[in-house]
Amino acid sequence: MNLTTTALDPKSAAAITLEEAHAAHNYHPLPVVIVSGEGAWVTDVTGRRYLDCLAAYSAVNFGHGHPVLIEAAKAQLGRVTLTSRAFHNDKLGPFVAALAALSGKDMVLPMNTGAEAVESGIKVARAWGYRVKGVPQNKATIIVADGNFHGRTTTIISFSSDPDARADFGPYTPGFVSVPYGDAAALEAAIDETTVAVLLEPIQGEAGILIPSADYLPAVREITTRHNVLFIADEIQSGLGRTGATFQCDNVGVVPDLYLLGKALGGGIVPVSAVVGNADILGVLKPGEHGSTFGGNPLAAAVGLAVVELLATGEYQDRARMLGERLEAHLRRLIGHGVIAVRAAGLWAGIDIDPSLATGRQVCELLMERGVLAKDTHGSTIRLAPPIVVAPEDLDWAVDQLEAVLEELRG
Ligand SMILES: *Cc1c(COP(=O)(O)O)cnc(C)c1O
Repeated sequence: MNLTTTALDPKSAAAITLEEAHAAHNYHPLPVVIVSGEGAWVTDVTGRRYLDCLAAYSAVNFGHGHPVLIEAAKAQLGRVTLTSRAFHNDKLGPFVAALAALSGKDMVLPMNTGAEAVESGIKVARAWGYRVKGVPQNKATIIVADGNFHGRTTTIISFSSDPDARADFGPYTPGFVSVPYGDAAALEAAIDETTVAVLLEPIQGEAGILIPSADYLPAVREITTRHNVLFIADEIQSGLGRTGATFQCDNVGVVPDLYLLGKALGGGIVPVSAVVGNADILGVLKPGEHGSTFGGNPLAAAVGLAVVELLATGEYQDRARMLGERLEAHLRRLIGHGVIAVRAAGLWAGIDIDPSLATGRQVCELLMERGVLAKDTHGSTIRLAPPIVVAPEDLDWAVDQLEAVLEELRG
């Protein structure tokens, strides 16, 4: 089977050539050049439409150009967009109040990107460890899980187990201990008097939508509480509707000490991230100890508030749960027909393709030719995470395209 993609049209080729000449090669995008998007669909430079089944890694949970979010952004663009935290702005208060209420916590630290939320959570946990728990200075450790993905900064990649993310970027930040994901006993065994926090993704997204058994996070909660260790849930990709709940932690009845949020919090419009927790923890930060020029800016806060208001209706969580059940049922029918395993949580699915048929990348290229944009992750796994606004029949159609691709590959 010849897997080379069809020759590129001149417009796409020109755009890709220019990008490849001058943008650093830290990505390997599919050869599609998007010019516009609406809902779950995007249009390329030739006018061809594709169903977006990645949704910018869940940053576009509410779809491209959601009218309510665009309206909130436009209204704020006409007023004021950036003030810095040296002054107050009228949007930050309503945003943090609404986000705290949605999260069942009382305090929010606004930042921009997900990695900054993770870095901020680490700093808060360390300061809490020294000032509240009484850990000796510079001894704090944080327990993480093998296979994690928490972002790309030097500290974060220091506790990554992915050689591509780490190699040649050392020296690494000390103070992290990694244990097998899903193994509560291993996690408890790694705790000692220097442990200030456990940092976990409730579902490991980049690792292939790895869903731990339902008793894992409750066990982590019980263990961390018993040892006076903070439980930090990185819900940057799993949170804000994707898994059929506001947080994946809700699905397993767990309340962490800190939520790390990002991606969908910016409505696919601007980067907005946050650490959300109670004042007994987030309150350790004093003026001057942490900050961000753009964090909490009025444009971000206006969009973030509109996102929180969409989520406060519960409508998107319900829709993700319903559509997710439909997606999973449809995908399960492909098991044994080119698919080895399916893991799904809400509208988020990891699909292991039979590696003897094709790589995940090759499947994504063939899906693209059929009008479906998806992304592979490690080896032969592809993930589907369309915007939650996707129409049910479009979702069915996307799985039909995957079925057709697999049929083609099986010959
Ligand atoms: C994407 C992601 C991050 C990093 O977010 P950026 O905005 O890319 O810095 C951190 N944690 C998880 C779980 C993510 O999916």
